[in-house]
Amino acid sequence: MSATRVVVVGGGIIGLSIGWRCAQRGLTVTVHDSAGDDGAWYAAAGMLAPAGEAGFGQEALTGLLVESATRWPDFAAELERETGIAVGYDTVGTLSVALTADDLAEARRLWEYRREHGLGVSPLLPSAIREREPALSPRLRGGAHAPDDRQVDPRRVVAALRAALGPAIVRDRVTDLPASRPVVVAAGSGTAALTGLPVRPVKGLVLRLRGEPGLLRHVVSGWADGRHVYLVPRADGEVVVGATQEERVDATVTAGQVLDLLRAATDLVPDLGECELVETLVRHRPATPDNAPLLGAYGEGVVVAAGHHRNGVLLAPVTADLIAELVATGKSAPLLDAFAPGRFG
Ligand SMILES: Cc1cc2nc3c(=O)[nH]c(=O)nc-3n(C[C@H](O)[C@H](O)[C@H](O)COP(=O)(O)OP(=O)(O)OC[C@H]3O[C@@H](n4cnc5c(N)ncnc54)[C@H](O)[C@@H]3O)c2cc1C
Repeated sequence: MSATRVVVVGGGIIGLSIGWRCAQRGLTVTVHDSAGDDGAWYAAAGMLAPAGEAGFGQEALTGLLVESATRWPDFAAELERETGIAVGYDTVGTLSVALTADDLAEARRLWEYRREHGLGVSPLLPSAIREREPALSPRLRGGAHAPDDRQVDPRRVVAALRAALGPAIVRDRVTDLPASRPVVVAAGSGTAALTGLPVRPVKGLVLRLRGEPGLLRHVVSGWADGRHVYLVPRADGEVVVGATQEERVDATVTAGQVLDLLRAATDLVPDLGECELVETLVRHRPATPDNAPLLGAYGEGVVVAAGHHRNGVLLAPVTADLIAELVATGKSAPLLDAFAPGRFG
């Protein structure tokens, strides 16, 4: 495919990023999006965590996460310059912490694996952790600093991308792929219905708290009595607390899940109990059988960019760059080889 016009189906963070990069290459772009904020991006905490998300046996995906993390500074700066909208890209880094001895043993296995794969993770004594974040519980048994794991505010990123694309975004639900011109399917969990590809929704609940700005500076990713929770502080005093992960399609918020997240959050940072609970929100991550995205050509005139599961915000820059290149020039970057949409047969 080598095109001058392109239709993008899906105006979440992936479809908008691709549309923006295609427009910058001089293509005439139309992005079709069915709703304002029903995408996973609206719940996403915005962690850009190649080290924190590197999982056992997922080397190709880890490589893509690292590559995209290196592209985030330019992506954010360019988007801010073009639109005047600050996207909240923050470089303080992530503290990974453990409350009990069992939590610490579990965390250390992961830190070791990540260090073996060249990801920046430096173990810290409890005293050093509390020096960096005095609001953390004095009961912590240990932790580590991941300086390259950063954050951005996904709602601001989407606002900026929408501003950059302006009238190129059309509000409608696509039911059949247009046959007459190149199309990029970036419809998150809606991709399965359009293409038959195995993208399934994975339910996630996040909470938003509001307190005094400055309670936390780093993103905190922690284990507390076997429960994992992350805390993502924004400059205005908002703290995103996340997240559950369930193979379910409903959007019900249960009291027990809110309780579990808040208990783990306040075990790690007791003062969070003083914050206002301003939002409980469920959205669905678009996941694939091997938890890695589907990126590349899929039949005549069709390109797919979907299934980014837990890392669609982190992966937006590399996805947008490589998919825009594929659409504009017909050339598929070698980095895409491991993520061919047809790999499940
Ligand atoms: C609770 C939670 C926390 C998360 N935290 C993080 C995080 O910290 N860091 C990170 O990197 N990632 C995170 N993620 C994952 C990230 O949000 C997703 O990977 C990312 O949003 C996927 O982007 P997308 O554009 O492919 O899909 P979505 O964001 O889901 O957007 C898809 C869009 O396509 C539209 N659409 C669907 N079907 C159609 C159709 N037929 N016609 C037209 N439009 C259609 C939808 O309306 C929607 O706007 C989180 C996700 C959740 C749920």
